[in-house]
Amino acid sequence: MNLHKKTNFVNLSVQLEDSALQLLLQQAKTKAGYSNTIHVLPLPAFTDNYIWAMFNHDHCVVVDPGDSKVVIDFVERLGIKLSAVLITHHHPDHTGGLKALKEYNPALSIFGPHSEKIPEVTVPLTKDDCIFLNELGAELRVMEAPGHTLDHILYYADDVLFCGDTLFSVGCGRIFEGSFTQMYQSLHQIVRLPATTQIYCTHEYTLANIDFALTVEPNNPDLKYYKVWAERQQASHIPTIPTTLSQQLKLNPFLRVKFPPVVQFAEKRAGHKGLDNIEVFTQLRLAKDEF
Ligand SMILES: [Zn+2]
Repeated sequence: MNLHKKTNFVNLSVQLEDSALQLLLQQAKTKAGYSNTIHVLPLPAFTDNYIWAMFNHDHCVVVDPGDSKVVIDFVERLGIKLSAVLITHHHPDHTGGLKALKEYNPALSIFGPHSEKIPEVTVPLTKDDCIFLNELGAELRVMEAPGHTLDHILYYADDVLFCGDTLFSVGCGRIFEGSFTQMYQSLHQIVRLPATTQIYCTHEYTLANIDFALTVEPNNPDLKYYKVWAERQQASHIPTIPTTLSQQLKLNPFLRVKFPPVVQFAEKRAGHKGLDNIEVFTQLRLAKDEF
């Protein structure tokens, strides 16, 4: 494959009927120029998880398949092959489908963190590794992001980030294993990516996150507009994900630790002034845990 050729990830977060998806796949087969296009579609699982399916006319790669059935149903319906799986961290709602998917396709490549807790991983990854999804013609870079769990990794390619439970729209993951400093640094490395980066996280927590963010920044006009939009999306059963980094920089209090209203909220909770960025982040995360 040509590693310098930019991959075109096309978000299909509006749920399409099978007939429309088949049409897209046919177009992908016949149209020159579509060859480097990867469609990205959320497969809803459990109550609020998204398993992200990246696919072209022949192959599919899924991210964090907590449930095997929705994945197998999807590839069977479209008549495409499940080629690989990407795992971000060890939690069962992200890995629960691995055993059955491995039985479904014994040749399946399972990329994931170097972690004893995910024995199904066939290609263990660490920081700055690059992986090549040959069947899709995509190259992704691995970023380590401890905080939510210690083994959490992210996958980045051509302005697309699969970030598991690290960054959510208007929120961030709960800190189960890492420290507040680790989580802050993990989010901070996402902030340094291009603002156009599309953020594909694993949960539909957006409306609840907006409610918390409005307690931190009740006068943020972008947040108020976004709430109206997100409510409309949810009422129509359309995902609010992906979002973009530029959007999150305007909306997400966990990425806005330098903004005066956010600092004031944290100072009030801490009971004193003079907090550094990590201390502001810590106060926000503790407040969200209690929200
Ligand atoms: Zn998790």
